[in-house]
Amino acid sequence: MKYRSTRGSPKLLSFSEAVLVGLAEDGGLFIPTNIPSLPENWRKDWSDLTFNSLALEIFSLYIPTEEISREELKQLIDNSYSKFNSNDITPLKKIRENLYILELFHGPTFAFKDVALQFLGNLFEYLLEKKNKEKKEKEKITILGATSGDTGSAAIYGLRGKKNISVFILHPRGKVSPVQEAQMTTVLDKNIHNLAVEGTFDDCQDIVKNLFADRSFNEKHHLGAINSINWARILAQIVYYYHSYFQILSSLNITAESKELKGIYFQYCVPTGNFGDILAGYYAKKMGLPISKLVVSTNSNDILDRFFKSGRYERSKGENGLIVKETLSPAMDIAISSNFERLLWYLAYENISKKDEGKRERSEEEKVKEASNIIKEWMQDVKINKSLVVEKSILDIALCDFKSERVSDQETLDTICKYYAPENKDQNSYIFDPHTAIGVTAADRQNTSPNTYQICLATAHPAKFSQAVEKALENFKEFKFESILPKEFIGLLEREKKVIFVERAEPSSVKQTIENELDIE
Ligand SMILES: *Cc1c(COP(=O)(O)O)cnc(C)c1O
Repeated sequence: MKYRSTRGSPKLLSFSEAVLVGLAEDGGLFIPTNIPSLPENWRKDWSDLTFNSLALEIFSLYIPTEEISREELKQLIDNSYSKFNSNDITPLKKIRENLYILELFHGPTFAFKDVALQFLGNLFEYLLEKKNKEKKEKEKITILGATSGDTGSAAIYGLRGKKNISVFILHPRGKVSPVQEAQMTTVLDKNIHNLAVEGTFDDCQDIVKNLFADRSFNEKHHLGAINSINWARILAQIVYYYHSYFQILSSLNITAESKELKGIYFQYCVPTGNFGDILAGYYAKKMGLPISKLVVSTNSNDILDRFFKSGRYERSKGENGLIVKETLSPAMDIAISSNFERLLWYLAYENISKKDEGKRERSEEEKVKEASNIIKEWMQDVKINKSLVVEKSILDIALCDFKSERVSDQETLDTICKYYAPENKDQNSYIFDPHTAIGVTAADRQNTSPNTYQICLATAHPAKFSQAVEKALENFKEFKFESILPKEFIGLLEREKKVIFVERAEPSSVKQTIENELDIE
C-alpha cells in the first residue's frame, strides 16, 4: 500500500512519508493507491473486538507491516487510547427509538479530535525515533499550527512531552473561549509553546502559511503540520464507524451475519466543517461497511450543503465582506473544506469509470491520471474563480453516498432544548453541545422508516461550549451548568498558565519568538 497525491504527482509515498510530510509537493492531498476491502470473515471475526483491537485490524489494512510491525502498531494504539475516560473509547448511547449518539468526546480535551490526534502524536514520535536510530545528529521537528480552539488543544495534548518534537500553536488573543484558552495554556510541558497573537484567527493562519512558505526557516526547523488533512487523522477516525456498527447490532441482538440485516439501514449524521470526520465514514463505507447514507450537517457556513444541493462548490460572498460567519458552533466555521478535495478525486474517478462502461475501458493508470488532471483544474477554478461546478453525473455519484442539511443557530438551540426536556416522558434527558446538536437536527429532519437506525456523531462535550448550552437552557431554572462540568474543568481557569504574547501579528515577530523559545528549550 502506497499513497499518491490527488493532483497527479507521479511520486508514490510510503505511509510513514505521507504522515510526516502531510501535504503533497504538488499541493494535493494523499490518498491510498487503493481502498482496501475487508477480510472475508470480518462480520464474524470483528464483531466482539474492542475499540483498540478493531483499530489494529483496520490500520493494518493501510499500513504495511514492513513499515510498522503489528506488535509496534498495537503498542502505539494502546498508548493512544489509554487516556480516554470510557472503556469503550467511543461509547454509543441510545436516545430514543432508532436514534443513537456516538460519543467521541471521552479523550483528554473532550472533543472528537482527540481520537485522531492522540494517535498522531505517538505516531510522529515513533517515526522520528526510527529515523533517528542510526543518526548521530538527532532530527527534530517543529510543529506549527494556528487554532481557533479545538484543534490546538487536541494537538497540544497529543504532542506534550514527545521526544524531539517542539510545538508552537498560535491563537488569536482573547478570541478563543476561556475554557479552550485554558486547556491550551495550562499545559506546562517544555516542548509546548502557546503564542497568543494580537489579531484574528485569519492573521494567525496567514502567519503560519507564511512561515511554511519561508524556505530557509522551514528547512532549518523542519516544520511539520497537524492540520486535518493529515492522512493518519482520517485513518484513525474510520475505526469508530465500525465500532458503532457492531455496538448497535449488539444492542439489537443481531449479528452482522444475520439475514435479518436485509432491509435494515444505517445512516450516520456528522457535524461537518473541514470534511475530515465524515470522509472517514466514506472510507468506512467504501471498504464495505453497510452504511446507507452519510448526512453532511453544516451550520450556516454551508459551502458543502450548497454543493450537495447544486453541484456548485462556491465560496460564500458573505455579508460585510466577512467570508466566514460566526456561529454557535465555531469548530465548523469554515470558508472552504480542506478535506473535500479527497472526495472530489473519488467522484471524478468513478465518473470516468462510468463513462467507460460499454466502451474500451481505460487502464487503471490512465483513469488515475485523468482524475488527477480534473482535480487540478477544479482546484485552479476554486483558487481563481472561488468556485467549481461539477456535471450532473458527478453529483449523482455523490448522492449515492451522501445527503446534506444546513442548520441555523436558532435550530441548534431548539434542538438542545428539545432533548434536554423531551416531551415523551419515557425518553431520557440528554444535553448536546452545539456541534452535536447540528447533526441531531439533521437526523430529526430525515423522514426515515422504522427500519432505519440513525447514528449522530457527538463531536464535543457540552461543557466545552458553555455559551450556547447556557443560552439554549436559560429558561430552565433548575439547570445548573456546573452539573455537567467534568472534574477536569473544575479550577481549570485558575491554574498556572504558560503563554507568550505576540504583540504584532506579523510573521517576523512570530519567527523571532519561535527562535528564542527553541534556544531556551
Ligand atoms: C473539528 C470539529 C468539527 C468538524 O469536523 P471536520 O472533520 O472538520 O468536519 C465538528 N465539531 C467539533 C466539536 C470539532 O472540533
